[in-house]
Amino acid sequence: MSAPSPIDGGKPVTIIGAGFSGLVTAFYLVRAGFRVQIHERAERAGGLIATKKESFGLVETAANGLLNSAYVEDLFSTIDLPLEPTLKEARRRYIFRDGEPRRWPLSFGGTVSVIWFVLRSIFFKALVRPRDGETVSTWADRVLGEEASRYLVSAALQGIYAGDPSRMSASLIFGRFFQPKKMASKPNVRGTVTAPEGMGQLIEKLKTYLEKTGVEFHLQSEIESVSEKPSHPLVIATSASQAAVLLKEFDPVRADACASVELLPIVAVTVSTARPPKTQGFGCLFPPVEKRRALGVLMNNFIFANRATRGFCENWIFGGALNQVPDLLKRSDQEIVKLVKEERDAAFATNSEILDASITRWPAALPHYTTELEKALPKIKGLRQNVLLIGNYVGTIGLAKILESAATVPDEISEKGEWS
Ligand SMILES: Cc1cc2nc3c(=O)[nH]c(=O)nc-3n(C[C@H](O)[C@H](O)[C@H](O)COP(=O)(O)OP(=O)(O)OC[C@H]3O[C@@H](n4cnc5c(N)ncnc54)[C@H](O)[C@@H]3O)c2cc1C
Repeated sequence: MSAPSPIDGGKPVTIIGAGFSGLVTAFYLVRAGFRVQIHERAERAGGLIATKKESFGLVETAANGLLNSAYVEDLFSTIDLPLEPTLKEARRRYIFRDGEPRRWPLSFGGTVSVIWFVLRSIFFKALVRPRDGETVSTWADRVLGEEASRYLVSAALQGIYAGDPSRMSASLIFGRFFQPKKMASKPNVRGTVTAPEGMGQLIEKLKTYLEKTGVEFHLQSEIESVSEKPSHPLVIATSASQAAVLLKEFDPVRADACASVELLPIVAVTVSTARPPKTQGFGCLFPPVEKRRALGVLMNNFIFANRATRGFCENWIFGGALNQVPDLLKRSDQEIVKLVKEERDAAFATNSEILDASITRWPAALPHYTTELEKALPKIKGLRQNVLLIGNYVGTIGLAKILESAATVPDEISEKGEWS
């Protein structure tokens, strides 16, 4: 099928992709008075996000929560969904160093360099601001010192971006902390939040709300290409690789920029164990310098209430740019469960019995936030030739920031959109 025709009356906007990005873009467009239709190639909405109800508890296939903000609270209250905050135990977060999980992985010297960095960020911002084209490792070594770079920055980024700090762009990731602050109202609840029955419930409630407000959903409707300038604004809310395919003929420059976005493989394994981990909290990150095979583990029982129906559930993440597991995607379920057991036993000095497991394999899940993406982004961003791209590769990877970007779409479309 080629680009769809508008539905009757009003100012139509078409969205391709009903993942989180497409759904929240529809949410703001409808609120601004546009009439929206969404084409989704799968038989369900949600894209990467889904919650499976296994016999041992809830399994998230991608995001387990999103960082709360005034935008998130507004979204949840509008669609009439209670906000599930994290448990008290989730305040404890661990980073693995020298064979054990630690709450603070730095020595006295490393801590002093972090304090010195904070002071310079307040009083001499220009000295610590990332430079164009600077990688995360170069920037962090320069402003924080080698120890904090290896054990704080690289660990944290491994958990969020699964990227390689020696290739990731410092200005894409940290640049916004050095921009003048926008006046945003503070949320009532701080930290990560989810829906009571998991992220899949957020998707379902949002879809139901959008249907009630008149959004037309076309599921199992794959758009193959955008062959000419659309007669009304079109939002492409797919992965970067799919956007490249869609725009190949019509806008080869933008398509090439999208095709240049490297996508990283991820394997997420939710396991049920009889014994609790020795360290209990939000989770533990494994910095690349420690050469562990897992990127990190989320301790589901201690993050949100009612995640496990029996025993203890953990979500182990493997893969990313510095993947330490050969043939990760080809490994059988049995081999992957064995891998989790070995990593868990080594990290927490225990002898685990894995009772059950649910494995999600994503061959190309997350965009790699490299300095090449930094160069490609100006060609990707903005409404041009009536087409706008939104998604986790257009400057912000987390759901909370995608939501903020989606909130700006109606203004962009009102100013620059064309209807013929
Ligand atoms: C393991 C993992 C854990 C994560 N954890 C977190 C977390 O805790 N917090 C957080 O904020 N983020 C997290 N993320 C990131 C977050 O989940 C994703 O960035 C986000 O879900 C991406 O949503 P999207 O809508 O941009 O893309 P997608 O979910 O990929 O949706 C794109 C949609 O477009 C559809 N589509 C594609 N091509 C076409 C076509 N030609 N025609 C019609 N439809 C098409 C697809 O079928 C899909 O439904 C995680 C990601 C992973 C993989």
